[in-house]
Amino acid sequence: MSTSHFRLQGISISTLLFVGSSCTPEDLELNSWQGEHVLYENSPSLQLCQGTHRWVDDFVPFVLDQLELEAPPLLDYRWLERSVLHCPDGVNGCTTFDGVASSANPFLLHELVHATLLTLDIPYQPFFGEGIAVTLDPLNGDDLGPTYLGRPIGTDTYADPRPWMTMQTEELHYGVAGSFVSFLLYRHGPEKLLALMRQLGTSRDMTVIEQTFREAYALELDDEAELFIVGTPCTADTGVPVLYDCTAPEVPWPGNLHLSGELDCAHEDVAGGFSTDANWSSLRSMTFTIPTTADWTTDFSLNVESTGPIMVQIGPCFGCPWRRREGAARASETAEVALAGGLHYMRILGRSDTTSSYTVNLDSHGPSYPTPQ
Ligand SMILES: [Zn+2]
Repeated sequence: MSTSHFRLQGISISTLLFVGSSCTPEDLELNSWQGEHVLYENSPSLQLCQGTHRWVDDFVPFVLDQLELEAPPLLDYRWLERSVLHCPDGVNGCTTFDGVASSANPFLLHELVHATLLTLDIPYQPFFGEGIAVTLDPLNGDDLGPTYLGRPIGTDTYADPRPWMTMQTEELHYGVAGSFVSFLLYRHGPEKLLALMRQLGTSRDMTVIEQTFREAYALELDDEAELFIVGTPCTADTGVPVLYDCTAPEVPWPGNLHLSGELDCAHEDVAGGFSTDANWSSLRSMTFTIPTTADWTTDFSLNVESTGPIMVQIGPCFGCPWRRREGAARASETAEVALAGGLHYMRILGRSDTTSSYTVNLDSHGPSYPTPQ
């Protein structure tokens, strides 16, 4: 687990298991912490960064807010050593039908989306169930939550989502499912998506999917799928989905950002974890507001200096998920990034087993101009 630490989370390959695994919690000795929404348990050999409990616990109200749902009962998240993780081979985490999320990662938030929906009795259909988990998980490899996971190489269009809708979990393309669910949430909000999922149940029959889509959206699935494939203007902004990092505390914006600090696992706003033989990404997130309107854009340079392996990601907390406007820079790098007015996030990523000092400078150059459509 030590290669390319900025990608450790990877695409959240996960599965749903029926309850009745041979390893019950009574068999395991676990450290536990109870928050408002989540009982967090971990193998004693795994070292949590100080902010992990809060990062996990606060994720549940974020999901509820995005989907306009009432709170579920207390959820259970378990960060376990691989040797006691009872998930299918090759996956990072899994969730039982009674809402217990287990993972080899300190915060595979993807699983908490499953746990939330399952405990609220929202049925699991593979394409829509995985799609919603991918969309709301802030870490999907180098990609960012609701932002599309890229076009197929060599094309100007996105993959047709329809063939994937009838597949089982193990056959799914999580990126296509997540991108299409992002598209639906952005254009039509959460209510219709949840109506679709409740009505559809677990069916993977295309005739049933088309009919249920028609009832939930008063639209033809074929028409929406075609718009997804070729692209559509960013017009009907429902305010969702946004990246979880956009709920982080806001720092002042005096016209630029000049920040310095330490990314230290011992700090209360740093999430992550490590053990004697493995380490995971650590992160700290914050937000800032550029006080012009979204109609105006300014070019900025993002410069990062650090004593350790740091990457800084920046992007807007608004706008359609198929328009990529994120910027990122690693230590000793300067990146150009065009930012419109409005709320933005900044995520600082590093290694949980290393304390790194950093400075981040975000400075404008040149006048503002109308935001390209
Ligand atoms: Zn999943």
